[in-house]
Amino acid sequence: MLNLVLFGPPGAGKGTQSAKIIEKYNLLHISTGDLFRKHLSEGTALGQLAQKYMDNGNLVPDEVVIGMVGDKIKSTQGVAGIVFDGFPRTVAQAEALDVLLNDMKTPISGMVSLEVPDEELKTRLMERGKTSGRVDDQDAAKIDNRIQVYYKETLPVASFYEKQDKLAAVKGVGSIEEIFGSICGAIEKLN
Ligand code: ADP
Repeated sequence: MLNLVLFGPPGAGKGTQSAKIIEKYNLLHISTGDLFRKHLSEGTALGQLAQKYMDNGNLVPDEVVIGMVGDKIKSTQGVAGIVFDGFPRTVAQAEALDVLLNDMKTPISGMVSLEVPDEELKTRLMERGKTSGRVDDQDAAKIDNRIQVYYKETLPVASFYEKQDKLAAVKGVGSIEEIFGSICGAIEKLN
């Protein structure tokens, strides 16, 4: 299986590029942000629990995220691989993902990290906020908080995969097609 972690700060373009990756390589897309937003729109207990964290740009607690991803992985069969988007976002989540995949006897093939300067992220998120309807995209203080949470809690996940020699950094600025080309180049060098 080709199991990828698509990594990067909020607004790096993970969702956009995931859609292209899953189409080209025929993979399953697991986006924890999308899963939470689905729960929110359906008004489930999990959605209600996640909402106060999401609305303020804080991370949903690890055990909640890990449980949700575990259920999703266990209900998945016969796929060529998985693109994880927005997960793992803490080292504890990365460790839990290794355990989950170990049970399925299929490891993470690699992490592709999209690198985008902070100022560009802020511009992109405010722009997205005009149409996305996401409350976390419409307030500069919330956007700043998400970027800070990224540096403090999420960036260590890159070192976690780097130590396993699985990290590939890709420049996340340019046209969507250019960036996608760099990602495919990184994917094809894996293994
Ligand atoms: P972004 O565009 O900020 O990367 P996402 O759509 O991936 O946004 O996630 C939106 C929100 O959902 C996050 O700010 C966070 O509150 C919650 N969330 C998503 N994935 C995770 C995760 N792996 N761990 C904790 N919280 C998460």
